[in-house]
Amino acid sequence: MTVTTRFAPSPTGYLHIGGVRTALYSWAFAQHHRGKFLLRIEDTDLERSTQESVEIILQGLNWVGLHAANQDKIVYQTQRFDRYKEVVKQLLEQGHAYLCYCSKEELAEMRERAEREGTATYDRRWRPEVGKTLPEIPQGIEPVVRFKNPLDGVTAWTDLVKGEISIPNAALDDLIIARADGTPTYNFCVVVDDLDMGVTHVIRGDDHVNNTPKQINIFKALGAKLPEFAHLPMILNEQGKKISKRSGDTVAITEYEDMGILPEAMLNYLARLGWAHGDDEFFTMEQFTQWFDLKDVSASPSRMDSKKLLWINGEHIKAADNARLVDLLIPRLQKLGVPISGSLKLEDVIALVKDRAQDLNALANECAYFYVKATPDEADVAKHWDEDAAARMQRFADKLAQLETWSAESIHDLFKPFCDEEGIKMGKLGMPLRLAVCGTAKTPSVDAVLALIGKEEVLRRMRG
Ligand code: GLU
Repeated sequence: MTVTTRFAPSPTGYLHIGGVRTALYSWAFAQHHRGKFLLRIEDTDLERSTQESVEIILQGLNWVGLHAANQDKIVYQTQRFDRYKEVVKQLLEQGHAYLCYCSKEELAEMRERAEREGTATYDRRWRPEVGKTLPEIPQGIEPVVRFKNPLDGVTAWTDLVKGEISIPNAALDDLIIARADGTPTYNFCVVVDDLDMGVTHVIRGDDHVNNTPKQINIFKALGAKLPEFAHLPMILNEQGKKISKRSGDTVAITEYEDMGILPEAMLNYLARLGWAHGDDEFFTMEQFTQWFDLKDVSASPSRMDSKKLLWINGEHIKAADNARLVDLLIPRLQKLGVPISGSLKLEDVIALVKDRAQDLNALANECAYFYVKATPDEADVAKHWDEDAAARMQRFADKLAQLETWSAESIHDLFKPFCDEEGIKMGKLGMPLRLAVCGTAKTPSVDAVLALIGKEEVLRRMRG
């Protein structure tokens, strides 16, 4: 049997990083077993679902590279209403479901009583049983369809992350599977879909643990083999609270893209958030899919750690291909108003500075002063620019002007004799030189930086 997993987002907003992790684990599990990873858009909530959100979700998955393989086979629940109707009919015919004509008032009364007595809400008054007389069918009420849940015993499963879970059937309602207007309800659609899509492993957030026994009973009524279930614990914010936009947490995957996180770093970070393989922190998705097993997923919630995310991102930036980084940096440099023109190749700049940044925006800033001198910050000036600096820089510019070969080595060779001549230490040359040329004291090796910026431009900046 082909291992088949799915990611089933509801398109009611942005793509949450918790959702991306769920998708990642589902994808990795399928990859590991050479199976299939499917995508289903759970858009039956017509009021809250939007096409815009579908697109945001697809873009987000596309950005991290998690859905490309089956784009043409995406299942949309709204396109499956006929199929759901057919299965409702089947359940009715087989006696696994029944019509219920309760009015709103009756249901409200039942709810009150259930709250008082702590029982299941619906009193099953329309549930047909041998020897039971059903109420008279009222006028003017369209019935809902309810599922005949088992009355006693337990519904249990071995969760692949959480272990044994068991719920007494008495605690479960005869849930509505089709509303009075004929539309199917959530838990029912999920079962029909998982069945039709051949899902063997349902991997999802643990906010769905309560739905699972309801779904299991529907699977059983349909005579289907149960899939395995794996419920992933939540992701908490850095304070240990549920991660949420309202608490100011970075939640939407697009925000991470804007922050300058690389998609492979995002996946690497999310992979480790709640799963471990020894001490491995930095790895590729090939390694991850080879290693991934649900038994290594932690059963307790994990906490966001933005420092770690940035560290992993920095490692992936170092490992990234420079030509690719060029494409990623151009729009960011444009945003900073930095023109990428002239003979200075961005790829060469990146090669020199890429190990100094933990995100792409910081990397863009590292590249920017090669093209346009930065405005020096006051603290740097106070620290490194003394009263002799201006004149000394002019004297050094004269030395630079005389160089016939312009290279990091030839520039470097000027340093020691110049410092000896001026009677200063290297720091008194290097830092003001950085400020004079780059407008910032934070640069890599100054000889290499000057070599790359080019003689003409260096002299223009120093003399300007
Ligand atoms: N649509 C559900 C959600 O976004 C997922 C349901 C499932 O995976 O079974 O939370």
